[in-house]
Amino acid sequence: MEYRKGNGLPFFNHIMCGIIGYTGAEAAAPKLLTGLRTLEYRGYDSAGIALSDEPILTVKAKGRIDLLETKVKEQGSLPQTCGIGHTRWATHGAPSDVNSHPHRTAHLCLVHNGIIENYAELGEELKHDGYSFASETDTEIAACLIDRFYRESGEPVSAIAAACKRLRGSYAFGILFEDRKNVLYAVRKDSPLIAVHTGQEGVIASDIPAVLAYSHTYYRLEEGVIAELSRETIRFWSPDGREVTQQSETVDWNVEQAQKGGFPYFMIKEIHEEPTVLRKTVEARLSAEGLPFFGVKRIDEIARGDFDSIQIVGCGSAMHIGLVGRTLIEDLARIPVSVEIASEFRYRDPIVGKRDIVILISQSGETADTVAALRHAKEKGAFTLAIVNVIGSTVAREADGVIYTWAGPEIAVATTKAYSVQGAILYLLAIKLAIANHRISEKEAKTLCFSLLREIPDAVQRILNGKEKIAETARLIQNAEHVFFIGRKADWDICVEGSLKLKEISYIHSEAYATGELKHGTISLVTDGTPVIALMTQEDVCEKTVSGIREVKARGAFVVSVCRESLAKKYEIPCDACLTVPDTEELFSPLVAITALQLLAYYVSEGKGIDVDKPRNLAKSVTVE
Ligand code: GLU
Repeated sequence: MEYRKGNGLPFFNHIMCGIIGYTGAEAAAPKLLTGLRTLEYRGYDSAGIALSDEPILTVKAKGRIDLLETKVKEQGSLPQTCGIGHTRWATHGAPSDVNSHPHRTAHLCLVHNGIIENYAELGEELKHDGYSFASETDTEIAACLIDRFYRESGEPVSAIAAACKRLRGSYAFGILFEDRKNVLYAVRKDSPLIAVHTGQEGVIASDIPAVLAYSHTYYRLEEGVIAELSRETIRFWSPDGREVTQQSETVDWNVEQAQKGGFPYFMIKEIHEEPTVLRKTVEARLSAEGLPFFGVKRIDEIARGDFDSIQIVGCGSAMHIGLVGRTLIEDLARIPVSVEIASEFRYRDPIVGKRDIVILISQSGETADTVAALRHAKEKGAFTLAIVNVIGSTVAREADGVIYTWAGPEIAVATTKAYSVQGAILYLLAIKLAIANHRISEKEAKTLCFSLLREIPDAVQRILNGKEKIAETARLIQNAEHVFFIGRKADWDICVEGSLKLKEISYIHSEAYATGELKHGTISLVTDGTPVIALMTQEDVCEKTVSGIREVKARGAFVVSVCRESLAKKYEIPCDACLTVPDTEELFSPLVAITALQLLAYYVSEGKGIDVDKPRNLAKSVTVE
């Protein structure tokens, strides 16, 4: 796999947040702040550090690292030579000073990357043992659990190991114990954590960029292994208390290469994260029975059909995924859905009221037009439901209900993985509505959910494995002036997004046309060699799209088909290049095919030498009107 080159980390499972820890001869605070800055690319909403002392000193701040630095400076001289630092991407509890890490207990202080799934039940148990909690985080529960075992054993390694046995979910922890001055402890499961030791100083971090200033040789902690770092040594312990060794690895990357995980651009790195974030997003929304579960009270009422209409509102790609949502919800649940551009919705007088649902979609949750549309819908009395990626963002805070996606931070301006996980949420919503509307049985719903959880991420992975073919195809179209995308039904929905992706980052004029619309306009623009990308994942309209292809080919078009494997075998498709999409449950195929279109756009842009992550004139989060 490309991203393993140079012994890189395939750590895409939990990209949120950054952990750093230092012990050595020099003052720790500046080292921690520098380390946090090199992890900034991972995204965060608050930051904090703790310094080993009696008592341990913590400084935390909601917001940027600059703010944390100002607060650290206000402390005056800080000679402590050991500490831990954290940039938080909130998952449990809004971004705030008190929810920021590190979290303190009577005996220790801890930073965490990940999610403790059984935090509520552990919290109840700990309350009985006399613990109370200052924050709303799952992390503080983990800190208290380790504290409880430490209270009993007085031994850090066994206390950490005992606590880990009780934790469900994902974690990377950096821990300071108050009475073990200048010693760092670390452990991980399903979240990244590496450690280095130079003989004079020891460092732990979430990712390679933060350790390169110390060493290019690092240990990737095995799951469950506990690391103990002092100024002089690093030691490792297995969960059953045996001292063990860990294999070291070496990279020859610089900081920037390391931040991109060895990929040339964030966009391609983020596309490669899709299988993981799709799994995470769906997994977090399935009940023990394997049915959609959102934890939003009104969704159950909605699901009972207690409303008249659904309107999906968003901008750009977020609106485009709304088109996919419309097709799905209408097909599966037989409920009327309309899709609106947020900047239009806010100035129109849309017919929505108490018995209507307005779904607002936004990656950042700060898109100005979407925020305005949300307020407009609320004024009219509609129930507003947000699908957003950033916890505590304006759309998330102000909507009546919120479903978070689990994409992790997205840095490339052109969205990819966030679009895909928004799609996954809409699929789950469609399934939930379909059950309530008696359109499908619970058994059928379970099969669909299972497919969404397993089959779809695997199929996306197969597209990624075959990316070379897509890169070759991109080279065939990269010098075009105009490109057209055609498809019908759900295929048209993703054509619209594929076309936007291409024009955003390649500067090629591109348009998406419903295949049947060709003869009402586009066809006059098709001349010799004009690339036409034809989407074919929906069997019932496949032959119709083949006819569309024949029409454009007759005018000289260069046709690239993006076709489901079995359809490519069954129908004779008159194309010049064919990209196949693995077969999955047909309903879900668009979510798989879109990855091929994202890759196509990426390789065209890269081939043209454009700065893929920062296309001209575009901003990641459009917070102005
Ligand atoms: N679940 C923890 C929280 O919400 C950690 C999140 C992170 O990985 O930054 O505080």
